[in-house]
Amino acid sequence: MSALESVCRYFEEAAGVIDLSPNMKKLLLTPEREVKVQVAMKLDNGEIATFVGYRMQHNSARGPMKGGLRFHHEVDAEEVLALASLMTWKTAVVGIPYGGAKGGISVDPRNLSEGELEQVTRRFVDEIQDVIGPDKDIPAPDMGTNAQVMAWIVNQYEKFHGFNPACVTGKPLELHGADGREEATGRGVGLLTEALLKKNGRSMKDATVAIQGFGNVGTFTAAYIHDCGGKVLAISDVGGAKYEPNGIDIPAAIEHVQQHRSLADFESSHTIPNEELLTLDVDVLIPAALGGVVTRENADEIRARYLIEAANGPVLPDADDILQRNNVIVLPDVLANAGGVTVSYFEWVQNQQYFRWDLERTRAELAKTLTDSFEKMWSLATEKHIPLRTAAYLMGIGRVGRATVLAGI
Ligand code: NAD
Repeated sequence: MSALESVCRYFEEAAGVIDLSPNMKKLLLTPEREVKVQVAMKLDNGEIATFVGYRMQHNSARGPMKGGLRFHHEVDAEEVLALASLMTWKTAVVGIPYGGAKGGISVDPRNLSEGELEQVTRRFVDEIQDVIGPDKDIPAPDMGTNAQVMAWIVNQYEKFHGFNPACVTGKPLELHGADGREEATGRGVGLLTEALLKKNGRSMKDATVAIQGFGNVGTFTAAYIHDCGGKVLAISDVGGAKYEPNGIDIPAAIEHVQQHRSLADFESSHTIPNEELLTLDVDVLIPAALGGVVTRENADEIRARYLIEAANGPVLPDADDILQRNNVIVLPDVLANAGGVTVSYFEWVQNQQYFRWDLERTRAELAKTLTDSFEKMWSLATEKHIPLRTAAYLMGIGRVGRATVLAGI
């Protein structure tokens, strides 16, 4: 099942609970605009390389569209569209005044030099600068992109439109970025894991955790859990998985990855096959890498009691049914990883106001936004006897639907 089919299926499940009319369903599912561009550039060796770039703008009923930019060799139109639609529901679930979009380039950034990465980014901005902007559509980092890439984007965009720091978020601090943005998604995952454990009479201190993916989201999630006294027994990245029954030394692992860009040679724990991490005997499983990793084939083997979707779309719908049957509580991506877009919103607000918040304020506002949304989702799920994911989609669809009806066509 493709990522797009997954999001549509989750949408349909929630739409069924409120008996959404077929016309409204069609309106909410149809993207507003799909942009596909050629990104051509000269490589360091003088050869010409051509990549395909996308910006999918799903819905703007609640405000300018917002969503990350992914540089990955598996990026395609359908995946980007699925992620754009997910952003529409995500921004609505946390109640920030945005719609949903997503972008990407089908390229493996690991095969590019720093200079080539800059060129591919700038050429992409040349192609999409007329459809993005602070009041239209605001990109942000996602897999394969970071604050440096955002710095190139703002610089290239400003060549066309003048000073405009709010045209993209996740920028470096020195270029109107926000303190707390880099850690925000992982910190949010940690905060919400804590909230979920608490609702179930547990605490982080007595929890064991496995985390798949040790990039931006995975490292900050691990650091938060470690700081709260939780035991992270396993971590992984594309280079391999590490397991330590007494708990991994997370600060040492983060330092190792900062120095070597991979966990492959991290010596202080056992190496296990990558796929084994998902089925370890832990309390909490956190997929924080790719989508579609929990499938019909492996869902029955998941032994964790709580699964936190830090990545976008890690659990496919058939697997979701199996997890439900096995009483695994899934905290859905539309809320679990919404910390990033929430602090992106704070960055945009600061840019619009030419004002800067300190880290303490950002963290407090983030915690309030996420825990308020979590409480609403939890109450709705309890009241209607539905899974957390369906409750979250209900919140999102309700808010986008009402905005659409109020505004009129
Ligand atoms: P990243 O590029 O910083 O890190 C991705 C990590 O996953 C890397 O450690 C990589 O080695 C690892 N990985 C890749 N394939 C793997 C595999 N097969 N097995 C194990 N590890 C593997 O990306 P990120 O920004 O941390 O994003 C991770 C996920 O979180 C994505 O699904 C992304 O869409 C989602 N997300 C990110 C943000 C954000 O603010 N960065 C916000 C919301 C959602």
